[in-house]
Amino acid sequence: MCGIVGYIGKKPVYDILINGLKKLEYRGYDSTGVMIYNQKVLIKKSKGKVTDLESLFTNSEEKKGSVGIGHTRWATHGPPNTVNSHPHSSSSGEITIVHNGIIENYDSIKKILIKKGYKFQSDTDSEVLANLIEDVKKTKKVKLGKAVHYALKQVVGAYAVVIFDSSNPNEIVGARLGSPLAIGVGDSEYYFGSDATPFLEFTKRCIYLNDNEMFVVSLKKGLTLREIKMDSIVDPYIQELKQSIEEVEKGGYDHFMLKEIFEQPQSIIDTFRGRLISPKDPISISSIEKHFEVFKNANRIIFISCGTSWHSSLLAEYYFEELLRIPVEVEYASEFRYRNPIINKGDIVIPVSQSGETADTLAAIKLAKERGAFLYGICNVVGSSIARETHTGIYTHAGSEIGVASTKAFSCQISLLLLMALKLGEKLGTIEKTRYKRILAELNNLPKSIRKVLSKNNIIEDISKKFINSSNFLYLGRGYNFPIALEGALKLKEISYIHAEGYPAAEMKHGPIALIDEKMPVVVIATKKGSYHKVLSNVMEIKARGAEIIAIVSKNDTEIIDIADHVIEIPNCDELIAPILANIPLQLLSYHIANKKGCNVDQPRNLAKSVTVE
Ligand code: GLU
Repeated sequence: MCGIVGYIGKKPVYDILINGLKKLEYRGYDSTGVMIYNQKVLIKKSKGKVTDLESLFTNSEEKKGSVGIGHTRWATHGPPNTVNSHPHSSSSGEITIVHNGIIENYDSIKKILIKKGYKFQSDTDSEVLANLIEDVKKTKKVKLGKAVHYALKQVVGAYAVVIFDSSNPNEIVGARLGSPLAIGVGDSEYYFGSDATPFLEFTKRCIYLNDNEMFVVSLKKGLTLREIKMDSIVDPYIQELKQSIEEVEKGGYDHFMLKEIFEQPQSIIDTFRGRLISPKDPISISSIEKHFEVFKNANRIIFISCGTSWHSSLLAEYYFEELLRIPVEVEYASEFRYRNPIINKGDIVIPVSQSGETADTLAAIKLAKERGAFLYGICNVVGSSIARETHTGIYTHAGSEIGVASTKAFSCQISLLLLMALKLGEKLGTIEKTRYKRILAELNNLPKSIRKVLSKNNIIEDISKKFINSSNFLYLGRGYNFPIALEGALKLKEISYIHAEGYPAAEMKHGPIALIDEKMPVVVIATKKGSYHKVLSNVMEIKARGAEIIAIVSKNDTEIIDIADHVIEIPNCDELIAPILANIPLQLLSYHIANKKGCNVDQPRNLAKSVTVE
């Protein structure tokens, strides 16, 4: 996810761009840049935050100009550094673009353009688009709008782009496919943004571009909107925004947490983008391909993490041991770092963290590194300390998560861990081919399946009403669903302050069963396959002791549905996919209980998003 801003009009553009980029900070970034036009093109870019970019402007002359575009990058192609930051220019410097998304066929286009004499400065796919537009413009002898149109017909992938052509500085062109883009319509002036927050203080009149739409705004001729595929003119629908900035950031949801829960289908698409290409294609994870020998020769894999990421790691243990047949251990980073652990050469240590800044995990990384482990980092925040401190790794690309209680970052972690296990299992020959293909197909369908689960929101909200006065909860699951029971309980604790315990369902009889009575609601994850019938017996034991049962079951369940008091269905799926789907109703249940209790859902007491202290 990245942020795009832009402006064309009569106002000084510098503050509009800088403040706009700051408003998009919540989207997360690793580098930033702006282009300001004042008789000539001025581009300034910097690794890091918007404040780093600001410090590059040393005199007020540089800030002058009333046309400009800006970008906060979230690197996909090429490391986060100044050269790879946006805006990118074409070889001649005439075309400047900011781009959010991925041009999947950039490599083949780049080769053709290099043959034609185009020079490239960066590793990005975006620079290819800048040169492609210039090439089309020159060879077809067309204006920018037409050139963009032809160029976009050649590219495969996702984009929100805003483009400036210094040979006609009264015009800006933009387009969208798969990544968001909004236009703020002022009085003979136009604003651009990945969402409306950068321009909300100037205009409430907003056009949200649809996929496959492009626009040309000209200070002389106004705005033209076009459908790219049909090449037809579209009547722009200008909305009158009523929300405050905060409400717009929350996208109409009451809380960031709820927004992030509902963003999960898109987050999973972002996580899989460029990695899971189609049901038939192999999985592409360059950091695994490059270091495959290390995985092949690994004696042991140790996951180190904290909190919700520890639950992802626990599920990863189930996935990796099942599909790779390599021994896996899962450690709390805070324990690992102080207990003089045995690390041998040939051990792979995989730290998992949303922020990439978790202090205990960083200390554990340092220790494991000193003792000779190979470190493969998994985190969400690009350019974070974990990304820098590990030998290699992978980003979850869940998008920025603002709610303190992790939701979409967790879903992306576990989906990515399953993808990694499949990739490694396939390469090691430890996974059976038909199973591999079936799970791959289901992963391709995951965003759709998540949408189906999210459509149960009203049912879950109704169920939640009954439990706002409960003081304790028990969450039970077996096999792949056990880590989800832990995560469900943690989510409830974190935001509703109700005490909750997660347990392997079969362990219940070794202690927690003593607690069960009619005042102890029990959430049971009882999806089909795996240990379904064993869990069914546990449900009977709970029922016999009078507890109210909320069951997460597979579609068309015929047994637990008759016993449980409340039932939430998830789509039928492979038992490796079930935990990813089963977790979502638990997020919603926690959210609604906490919200109805009047708790501060996004900022629960005593907690912090990025735990940078011990
Ligand atoms: N693919 C582009 C890059 O790596 C854009 C990434 C983004 O959306 O920020 O620079």
